[in-house]
Amino acid sequence: MKNFYDFTLKELQIYLAQFGKEKFRAEQLFRWVYQKGETDVSEMSNLSKGFRDEIEGLLEFNLPRVQQQLDSLDGTRKFLMEVESEKTVESVLIPNGDRLTLCVSSEVGCAMGCRFCFTAKMGLMRRLHAYEIVGQFINAAKSLDDGRRITNIVFMGMGEPLDNVENVTRAIEILHDQRGIAFALRKITVSTSGIVPQIHRVAQAGVRLAVSLNATTDEIRDNVMSINRKYPLNELLDACKEYAKETGEMITFEYVLLKGVNDSLDDARRIVKLTKGIPSKINLIPFNEHPGSGFVRPASQEVAEFQSLLMKLGKHVLVRRTMGRDIYAACGQLRSEMEKHPEKMAIH
Ligand code: SF4
Repeated sequence: MKNFYDFTLKELQIYLAQFGKEKFRAEQLFRWVYQKGETDVSEMSNLSKGFRDEIEGLLEFNLPRVQQQLDSLDGTRKFLMEVESEKTVESVLIPNGDRLTLCVSSEVGCAMGCRFCFTAKMGLMRRLHAYEIVGQFINAAKSLDDGRRITNIVFMGMGEPLDNVENVTRAIEILHDQRGIAFALRKITVSTSGIVPQIHRVAQAGVRLAVSLNATTDEIRDNVMSINRKYPLNELLDACKEYAKETGEMITFEYVLLKGVNDSLDDARRIVKLTKGIPSKINLIPFNEHPGSGFVRPASQEVAEFQSLLMKLGKHVLVRRTMGRDIYAACGQLRSEMEKHPEKMAIH
């Protein structure tokens, strides 16, 4: 038995063809499940009784189970979802004006070992299947009972999406299919710590790219993000230029500000130099402290000075507001906090 949500439309057509089913059958199923929200095969009224009976033996419609859903006072909604092998991942819905962004996870834990990141401490437990990524979207969308719709998807939850690139790009294809959810590609962003050889896959998938920069010299970046030892800054920035050339899209550089490590005004000047010629904006993320990280959040005044110098030097720069809890710098905190103190999460 295969999981319906793990198939792209093409794959479903091939799977059903093995049982002598015509191509349009897969399309019918996509419309019923993704557009009408119907997974009870007996309710799919335009399918023949014989086909309905057969589907019961060929496909299951299992999604990750929502273990906890918590609403923050600022409107952020956090989910802890149980995926295969009794592991859990987090997804976060973040309202911002007209936008409602869903931050999804791509892996349970992460192998990248960024020193400022809580998820890194878990190591990589497993990569998510495409259905577990699509499932995070469906569960989050189902939780909206007030007519709101998810407008943007960002791969910035647990895990490095380009370390699970096959399943991430398949999930994107499923989310985008016009016979199904029809989510716009330009509203999807994949964020990477810098797996250079896979960056072209983001361009191929037609979605936006965010890069976790977090340092302006190889020496500092080697120290805070071990991926830099494999793919140093010049290679990363070359890949970014390629992406921009190929897509014409703007790149977002994420920059977690760590006091005394990467937050000097010289760092700000170097950001401008490094990103010269790359259509981009900078997202500053003052570090969200967690026990044992060894890093400190810079004071608001220091963050403001850093931002203002970047702006003076012509960069488009934003400081990410901490909503609920910062979704990137604090990635992984949700999981541990929800397990230990579920009551706390609703009131911060
Ligand atoms: S910051 Fe992202 S890439 Fe780095 S360890 Fe954490 S989850 Fe992995």
